[in-house]
Amino acid sequence: MFLEKDTNTKMRAGWIEVICGSMFSGKTEELIRRLTRARIARQKVEIFKPQIDKRYSEEDVVSHNSNVIRSIPVQSASQILFYANEFDVIGIDEAQFFDEELMSVCNHLANNGVRVIVAGLDMDFQGNPFGPIPQLVAIAEYVTKVHAICMRCGNLAHYSHRTIDGEKLVMLGETESYEPLCRACYNHNKNKIHPGNE
Ligand code: ZN
Repeated sequence: MFLEKDTNTKMRAGWIEVICGSMFSGKTEELIRRLTRARIARQKVEIFKPQIDKRYSEEDVVSHNSNVIRSIPVQSASQILFYANEFDVIGIDEAQFFDEELMSVCNHLANNGVRVIVAGLDMDFQGNPFGPIPQLVAIAEYVTKVHAICMRCGNLAHYSHRTIDGEKLVMLGETESYEPLCRACYNHNKNKIHPGNE
């Protein structure tokens, strides 16, 4: 269990935290919780997200329970560096949509004293590792994997199962297109569609 690091040290050293998991696992809520606490402590906080995520609004990071924190949409991970000097804590939401460059950006920020908190999906809807998240998990000091609840059996879920057809990796839209499933229910469902595929 990750307990947040004591930041009250004289030497300004940064680090990387990753919050990962399936859809409906509360990643963004956890990101917002950490950023809000830092902001209350008068640390300078900013949050970035890829421009691709337009589900709710252009400039707000909105978790599913509608906590809102202003954010800066960026086209690429390197754009985050333009703003980096001004902040103590940088949050990056929906990080799975950035490319591998995000890893070096996060390392650069942390090496320069920034606390970097990255939230993102660790698997796509087919159960494959998603974008730069696996690499970020490897280089982070602290990793928190959060879980949803399986919609079919109530166990902990770590798959984001898509309930409609389509191969496209990035699909925007939420409750109507995805359901969190545990391993057993995910495999059971796959076998119903493709018998013998387990
Ligand atoms: Zn289940």
